[in-house]
Amino acid sequence: VGVDPERSILFRQSEVHEHAELFALLGMATPLSWLERVPTYKGQIAELGEGIDTYGFLGYPLLQTADIVLYKATKVPVGQDQLPHLELAREVVRRMNHLYGPVFPEPQALLAEFPLVLGPDNRKMSKSYGNAVTLGMDDEEIDGLVMSMITDPQRVRRDIPGRPEVCNVFSWHRLFRAPQAEIDEVYRGCTTAELGCVQDKRDLAARVRDTIAPIRERRAALLADPERIDAILADGAERARAIAAPVLAEIKGAMGL
Ligand code: SF4
Repeated sequence: VGVDPERSILFRQSEVHEHAELFALLGMATPLSWLERVPTYKGQIAELGEGIDTYGFLGYPLLQTADIVLYKATKVPVGQDQLPHLELAREVVRRMNHLYGPVFPEPQALLAEFPLVLGPDNRKMSKSYGNAVTLGMDDEEIDGLVMSMITDPQRVRRDIPGRPEVCNVFSWHRLFRAPQAEIDEVYRGCTTAELGCVQDKRDLAARVRDTIAPIRERRAALLADPERIDAILADGAERARAIAAPVLAEIKGAMGL
C-alpha cells in the first residue's frame, strides 16, 4: 500500500524553490488569454465563488507546467479533466522552445484506466467539492458517502429495472476492483429489478471499506512517526533539487539571465 519513497521521489514543492522560480519565468512568456481559456478556471470560479479569483489561481496551470518541465518529463499521468492543463503545458513548452531554443520536451498524457471518476453527487470527484473518498476515511464516513450516491434517475421505484450504464454506483464497483462475475451479477440484478439500489449500495460500501481499511492503517502508522515523514521529505527535496537546479540553470542561460 502506498508509494515507495525509494523508487519515487516524494517532496514538498515549497522546499524546492526552483518550482516557484520557473513558474515566474514561464509567466513572462505566456499570454494571459491562454490561461483564461482553461476550462477549469471559469468552471471552478462558478462552483467555488469569486474568493478564488486571484492571479495565483489563474496561473495555477502554469505552476503545474513548471512542475512537469522542471524534470523534463515526457509522460504525465493525468485524469481526463486535466487534459486541457496538459495541452496548455505543451503550448507553453512550444513557445519557450521557439523563443529560447529547444530546452524542454513536449509532455504527453498518460491516461489512467479510469480517467474520470465521479463523486457520489455525480460531479467530478474532488477534495474541493467535499465529495471524495479520502484515504483516511473511517467506515462510518464511507457508508455515509456511498449511501448518498445518486443512482439511475429513472429508477424511481424498486420494481423498475435500472440502467447500470448510467449509474455511478455501477462504475464504482469496477473502480474498486470487483471481480467480473460480481459485476455481471450486479448488471443482471439491476436490469431485471431483482437487486435494489439500497442493497447494491450496501454491497459497494463494504467493498470500499475493504479497500480503504489497509490504506488507512498504513497511513495511521506513518502519521504516528512524523520524524520518518520529515526525513523522507527532506531526502526527496534533495533528490528533486539535484534534477531541477541544472534544468532551471539551463533555461535561465537560454533566456540570457
Ligand atoms: S441497482 Fe445498483 S447499478 Fe442499478 S441503478 Fe441501483 S445502484 Fe445503480
